[in-house]
Amino acid sequence: MNTIFDQAVERLRGMGQLAGISDSVLAGLSRPKAVMYASLPVRMDDGATQYFDAYRCHYSQLLGPSKGGIRFHPCVDDAEMRALGLWMTIKCALVNLPFGGAKGGVVVDPKSLSRMELERLSRAYMRAMADFVGPDLDIPAPDVYTNERIMGWMRDEYEVINGAKYPAVITGKPVNLGGSEGRFEATGRGAFYCIEFLRCKEGKLPVDISVAIQGFGNAGYHLARLLAAAGYKVVALSDSQGGIFCAEGLDVQLVHERKMVTHQINPNYPEGSVSNCENCDSYQAISNAELLAMSVDILVPAALENAINSDNVDAVGAKWIVEVANGPISLDADEALFARDIVVIPDVLANSGGVIVSYFEWVQNRAGYPWTLLEVQSRLKEKIESAFEGLWQYQHQKAGISFRQAAYAKALVHLEDVMKMKGTKE
Ligand code: GLU
Repeated sequence: MNTIFDQAVERLRGMGQLAGISDSVLAGLSRPKAVMYASLPVRMDDGATQYFDAYRCHYSQLLGPSKGGIRFHPCVDDAEMRALGLWMTIKCALVNLPFGGAKGGVVVDPKSLSRMELERLSRAYMRAMADFVGPDLDIPAPDVYTNERIMGWMRDEYEVINGAKYPAVITGKPVNLGGSEGRFEATGRGAFYCIEFLRCKEGKLPVDISVAIQGFGNAGYHLARLLAAAGYKVVALSDSQGGIFCAEGLDVQLVHERKMVTHQINPNYPEGSVSNCENCDSYQAISNAELLAMSVDILVPAALENAINSDNVDAVGAKWIVEVANGPISLDADEALFARDIVVIPDVLANSGGVIVSYFEWVQNRAGYPWTLLEVQSRLKEKIESAFEGLWQYQHQKAGISFRQAAYAKALVHLEDVMKMKGTKE
């Protein structure tokens, strides 16, 4: 079977060969360094014990300790962890962080758990992985359906196990438990800086740019909020239950309020949906498929992998696609978009704001010296702009390549140089 990891490796090899990366380096990057599987026994509120499959994949530790989020989702599997770990490796190398790539996850529908069950599951994950993570080894963070509260529980569990304080063992924590100012919105803000960069290069005004965003989780919401505040027209939003459209631009805060109706079993997850706004004046209900096919300036897939694939790629009507989810465009769809001159800003740059501010959090934890929100935001902006400028130059010098090809080329050359300098293959 052609798994998502097989596709990720195929993409890596294709891009690597184009950039002249040696076969041995590509062979080294085509497999994870180590993968841990654990079965997590969790006592449920009714007294019964349920078992959950859990993973942590150290994809690469060439540039430093491995770094990447933990996902709680029913579709988590070993192949997905490897693919996401490979993409974290490319992302950290591209934006020049001293980190390798990793990913973790639990096969669970977290919305079906109570708050206490969610806490016990989070702590069980850290107990199972305690020897496999650490501030100098592997540093987890939030990802799909995990949040700062979960990071706080996990930090606490690690410290109970090790009998000392280790704030830098995990990032994306609540600010009062050692988290960084600005981490909560960092993925969305990083994507916003990418869009601003692109807009300035194109010489357009925000009001002349229409945006459709698929996925209204943490990253999608903060991006929509920042775009609307800057004067962009956010015309469509969706989540797993459906979407809404308004040609004049949506009121992002209003949509967010409707979505954030508290979940009755577990206050960690919202119960509402953006589609609750269907009755708002002049807002029109649309499906996710319709959103992906809209004729907008910018389409932002901010949900899960392979949202744009060979079945729906021909319907895409946007000029630019900014990948806020990890891997939202399948391999064949990517080629089809390139052939149609649709510009794709790849995930490894567009959503790198999250891991960049995670790096800032780790630095602050190690220094024991927190930064202000303004310091975090200006350093994030600087990092995104310099990475994008480098990519822009590279892509324009090598006529006829995509931004994804440019991003992989830059990241892989960096990884290859470090491998050579080290003198040994990982
Ligand atoms: N889960 C996020 C990502 O995919 C953030 C990872 C991190 O902060 O380590 O980039």
